[in-house]
Amino acid sequence: MANFYTDNEDLKFHLTHPLMEKMVSLKERNFADKDKFDYAPVDFEDTMDNYEKVLEIIGEIAGDIIAENAESVDHDGPVLENNKVSYARGTQQNYDAMVQAGVVGISLPRKYGGLNFSFVPYVMSAELVARADAGFANIWGLQDCAETLHEFASEEIKDEFLPRFNRDGATAAMDLTEPDAGSDLQAVQLKATLDEKTGCWKLNGVKRFITNGDADVSLVLARSEAGTSDARGLSLFVYDKKDNAMIVRRIENKLGIKGSPTCELVFTDAPAKLVGDRKMGLIKYVMSLMNSARLGVGAQSVGIAEAAYREALKYAHEREQFGKTIIEYPAVYELLTNMRAKTDAIRTLLYETCRYVDIYKSYSSISEERSLTPEERNDFKLHQKIADVYTPLLKLFSSEYCNQIAYDSLQVHGGTGFMKDFPIERIYRDARITTIYEGTSQLQVVAAIRGVSNGLYLKILRDNEQIQLKPEFDYLKHSLAKMTDQFARTIDKVTSADNAELYDFHARRLVEMAGNIIIGYLLLFDANRNDKFKKSAEIFIRLGKTENTQKVSFINSFDVKELGYYKF
Ligand SMILES: Cc1cc2nc3c(=O)[nH]c(=O)nc-3n(C[C@H](O)[C@H](O)[C@H](O)COP(=O)(O)OP(=O)(O)OC[C@H]3O[C@@H](n4cnc5c(N)ncnc54)[C@H](O)[C@@H]3O)c2cc1C
Repeated sequence: MANFYTDNEDLKFHLTHPLMEKMVSLKERNFADKDKFDYAPVDFEDTMDNYEKVLEIIGEIAGDIIAENAESVDHDGPVLENNKVSYARGTQQNYDAMVQAGVVGISLPRKYGGLNFSFVPYVMSAELVARADAGFANIWGLQDCAETLHEFASEEIKDEFLPRFNRDGATAAMDLTEPDAGSDLQAVQLKATLDEKTGCWKLNGVKRFITNGDADVSLVLARSEAGTSDARGLSLFVYDKKDNAMIVRRIENKLGIKGSPTCELVFTDAPAKLVGDRKMGLIKYVMSLMNSARLGVGAQSVGIAEAAYREALKYAHEREQFGKTIIEYPAVYELLTNMRAKTDAIRTLLYETCRYVDIYKSYSSISEERSLTPEERNDFKLHQKIADVYTPLLKLFSSEYCNQIAYDSLQVHGGTGFMKDFPIERIYRDARITTIYEGTSQLQVVAAIRGVSNGLYLKILRDNEQIQLKPEFDYLKHSLAKMTDQFARTIDKVTSADNAELYDFHARRLVEMAGNIIIGYLLLFDANRNDKFKKSAEIFIRLGKTENTQKVSFINSFDVKELGYYKF
């Protein structure tokens, strides 16, 4: 009997963050649902108790069912028959267990059958599932689409689609990518045509690389404005599988997350409903959907990192060479120590980002019912601004780190890690996709560099310097303050060249420098709350300081004349 929630006390630490009370109060609106639903919480303690109970249920399903099925799912994969996808037997069993436990659609309001979960416990659930099987985390996590419908669709669409998630276990898909529109979604061509007689929209065209493409409910980005070629001609639609007007042409044979079907879809006169306003598809709705999905990949990455670390630790304690267990060798324990620090690092960034997203989304939802006070409006804007620059930072760091951690874990296993006998072989393959989908690492830098250019990262770092911590952490705070000075000087150096290409060339270095300091602070705040994070804070800050110094050295030694592709 394994429970992936109760066997990891770090999760409760993040769940019980001091800001949780504010988040719950905004989300539950003075616990107004308690008079309408007998299972709605009556106060803060009751809400936290509910969160924990559900996390324990998901932790148990993850440990006892999903993790147990992961190997067979990886082997069997989904199959395509008559243009329809059937999940692997284990995947279906996993999904049935989640539906039966009532944990599909948990972030939706109670009137649609949800549990009105805030982002922290919702994303934590995704972390638990991903630790068990990263591929299955995609299938379960695509309920983010329901959240987008809830945020932007008409009441009629919400009433039609949202109750199906919890009641029927409806699955979802996010249909954006096309053969010629990957990172650049402005190039989407799938056509949406309005039939003036019936007032009905029809979709025609092809989508590629769509996870869970044969889902019950699909959100489809399509070109609704004939003659346009940019984002302003795109709208978002919801397509119902019951209409039988879309076929799955193929499922991809891929490196990892094999249980999650990646589909090529053909829409032929497929009826669909417009979500929100025309022309806002990419500009507003898909941006919001992708930001939620990026938190999802953050959770997936932390889950993979946790699994990889645990596998390595267990193996290093068991394996003996030259008369002692391999964990006693500095070369091995250093790998494990850094893996632990990096897992703690991405987890703390994950839940910090969730808190910012949660608070601004709650304000946004309250603002639809009443006007916000000036104080609330300022708080809303601040949280939204920080969420916007933390989300790409999270996606970048968590996905890159989970790959590094999976790589190091396999290394700790030696030759055994290369074989299919141990889970790390699968975990290593599963990790690889995280830096690619929901926007590649390069595209996360394009988004995160705004936090460098507009001075927001620097402001957050300077504000952090003012936060009082236990005196024993003065030396680490001092290190972070010096790293911030170095970061500020480096931004000046790069911007003073007044060369856009040079700025883009160093963008990743600048974003990563900021990330190293921001995460250093977050770990320090965690250590201030609980001693157990002290070691991770010390190690991470030391690693970050070394890495930032290397980046500065590269930037200082780089000559602008070196820009451009070097033709060998
Ligand atoms: C397993 C899997 C599941 C997926 N699931 C879904 C899904 O459910 N729904 C969906 O809509 N899509 C899905 N995708 C698609 C995925 O989001 C895209 O593959 C991804 O966005 C990258 O697009 P691309 O593959 O066309 O690569 P390209 O955009 O062609 O990129 C190729 C390379 O060029 C770089 N690059 C491109 N533009 C820039 C730039 N401006 N600056 C710097 N570098 C740049 C990229 O970083 C990358 O290294 C999935 C893909 C895979 C592999």
